[in-house]
Amino acid sequence: MLLSPSQRGADLAQRVGKFIETNLMPVEATYFAELAAARVAGTQWKTLPRMLELQKQARAAGLWNLFLPAHHGDAYAAKFGTHGGAGLSNVDYAPIAELTGRSLIAPHVFNCNAPDTGNAEVLLRYGSAEQQRTWLEPLLEAKIRSAFLMTEPAVASSDATNMQATAVVEGDEVVINGTKWWSTGVGHVDCELLIFMGLTDANANRHARHSMVIVPRSAPGVEVVRMLPTMGWYDEPHGHGEVKLTDVRVPLSNVIAGPGRAFEIAQGRLGPGRVHHCMRLIGLAERALELACQRAVSRTAFGKPLANLGGNREKIADARIAINQARLLVLHAAWLLDSGDLSAVGAVSEIKVAVPNMAQQVIDFAMQIHGGASMSEDFPLSAAWLQARAIRLADGPDEVHRGIVARFELAKYRSE
Ligand SMILES: Cc1cc2nc3c(=O)[nH]c(=O)nc-3n(C[C@H](O)[C@H](O)[C@H](O)COP(=O)(O)OP(=O)(O)OC[C@H]3O[C@@H](n4cnc5c(N)ncnc54)[C@H](O)[C@@H]3O)c2cc1C
Repeated sequence: MLLSPSQRGADLAQRVGKFIETNLMPVEATYFAELAAARVAGTQWKTLPRMLELQKQARAAGLWNLFLPAHHGDAYAAKFGTHGGAGLSNVDYAPIAELTGRSLIAPHVFNCNAPDTGNAEVLLRYGSAEQQRTWLEPLLEAKIRSAFLMTEPAVASSDATNMQATAVVEGDEVVINGTKWWSTGVGHVDCELLIFMGLTDANANRHARHSMVIVPRSAPGVEVVRMLPTMGWYDEPHGHGEVKLTDVRVPLSNVIAGPGRAFEIAQGRLGPGRVHHCMRLIGLAERALELACQRAVSRTAFGKPLANLGGNREKIADARIAINQARLLVLHAAWLLDSGDLSAVGAVSEIKVAVPNMAQQVIDFAMQIHGGASMSEDFPLSAAWLQARAIRLADGPDEVHRGIVARFELAKYRSE
C-alpha cells in the first residue's frame, strides 16, 4: 500500500495549510458574524463579499478545483486548462481535503465543496460536449452553483431504485414531475443547475429505470417550496431545499449519458463524494480535539486543570487513537480507488460508517469539555457536531453502508 502523497501533492497540501492559517482562520469568525448580519438584512442566500475575496485569493494562489482527480484532471486540463484542477490522485487529495475540513467555509473558498464537486464530476465523466460547455465551465469558475435532486419525501430514498418522480421522454423533450427534498445548494441565488433523477421506464430492469436530467433552475414549473433547517441551522448561503417540479419540459439532449443510466451515474458520483466527506471530517475532528486540549489545559475546576479531572486524559487519548485509525482507513480506501480495485466499493462504505461516527464522538467530547460554551456560536463545535451527524444520513445512512460491507465480507464464504 502506498499511502503517502506524491511530492506535488505534499507541496500543494502545504500551500493549502498555509493559506488556511494565514488567509482564512483569522477571518473565519468575522465571516460568520457577517453571515448573521446578512440574515437580518435578508441577503443570506448570496455569496458574501468576504467569501468572494477569499476565493479570488485562493484562485490567484493556484489552489482552485483541487478535487478533480487524475483521470479527470487530464481531460479537464486539455479542455478547460485555464480554470485550475490539479489532476491529483485520491491519496494526494486526502491531506488537502483534511485541511479544508478544519473550517466549515474552506471547501467553498477552494471551490471544492459538495454538491458542486460531485455534479462537476458527473458532467466531466458522463456529460456531452455541449452539457460540459454550458454547465461545467461556469461551475468550475464558481459563476453558477448547483444542486443534486435525488431524495424524495414520499419514499425511502436510502434505496435509489425507489425514486418515484418522473422523467418521461416525449419526442425530443423530457417531461419532469415530482417532489424532491434535501436538495443541498438550492437556496443559493446563483444555483442555476439542477441535476434531477427521475423514473423513465418503470418496466425496465431495476437499475435501468431512472434517468439523470439537467434542469435549469429557471425552467418553468420548478418551485423551491421551502428551505429545510438542519436541527435549526439553514446552512446559508447554500441551504437544503424542498423542490416541486410540475410539467417541467427540457430538451432530450439534457439527459446525461442517455435515458436509464441514472443509477450507474449516482453510484459513480457518490463514490468520490463520500471519500471527500470522510477526508474533511478527519480535519474537523482534529480541530475539535485541538480545541478540547487547549480548553483542558487552560481552565481549572476543583483545583486542577480540566485535563486532570475524571477520565479526561483517557478520553483525549481515545480521541487521538480514533482519529489516527480513521485517517489510515480513509487513505486505504483512497489508495484502492486510485488502484481501480473493485473492493474499493466496500472500503468506501467502511469509511462512510467509521469516520462520521468517529468525528461525532470526538466532537461530542470536545463539546462536553467546553461546558455551556460549546452550545454557543463562540466555538465552531455545535456546527461541527451537526456536520458529522448529518453525514451519517447524507449519501446513504450508516445501515446501508454496513450492509455493503457485510455483503463483501459474506461473499468470501458463499459457495458457487
Ligand atoms: C444535510 C443533508 C444533506 C443532504 N443532501 C442531499 C442532496 O444534496 N441531494 C439528495 O438527493 N439528498 C440529500 N440528502 C438526503 C440523504 O441522502 C437521505 O436522507 C438519505 O439517503 C436517506 O434517505 P431517507 O431520508 O429517505 O431515509 P430512509 O430511506 O427513509 O431511511 C430511514 C432509516 O431507515 C433505516 N434503513 C434504511 N435502509 C436500511 C437498511 N438497508 N438496513 C437497515 N436500516 C435501514 C436507516 O436507519 C435509515 O436512516 C441530504 C440529507 C441531509 C441530512
